[in-house]
Amino acid sequence: MTHILLHFMVPIAVALCLYRKQWQRAVVIMWLTMLVDLDHLLAVPIYAPMRCSIGFHPLHELWFIAVYVGMLIWKPTRIIGLGLVIHMVLDSLDCYQNVGVWMT
Ligand SMILES: [Zn+2]
Repeated sequence: MTHILLHFMVPIAVALCLYRKQWQRAVVIMWLTMLVDLDHLLAVPIYAPMRCSIGFHPLHELWFIAVYVGMLIWKPTRIIGLGLVIHMVLDSLDCYQNVGVWMT
């Protein structure tokens, strides 16, 4: 439950720090990046509480994470990249907390 809460709270904190004038817009965009979890629908079972999503689900693979980091460079994709990088960091923290590894 804490993990899901962090997916909502961390983007708010980051938006308030980095996008003061349009923080609500930044929050909505970063929340929309949670759609990256749609790749969980490809897994069987769809939800496994002790499974580490980093390196397991297609959009959570390392080379995709490198793309998300790359999106930080170009201003038009920066907020999306930021949301995705935050998402991957939080998922990786969840992996470490649940199974003791940062990625599968
Ligand atoms: Zn995820």
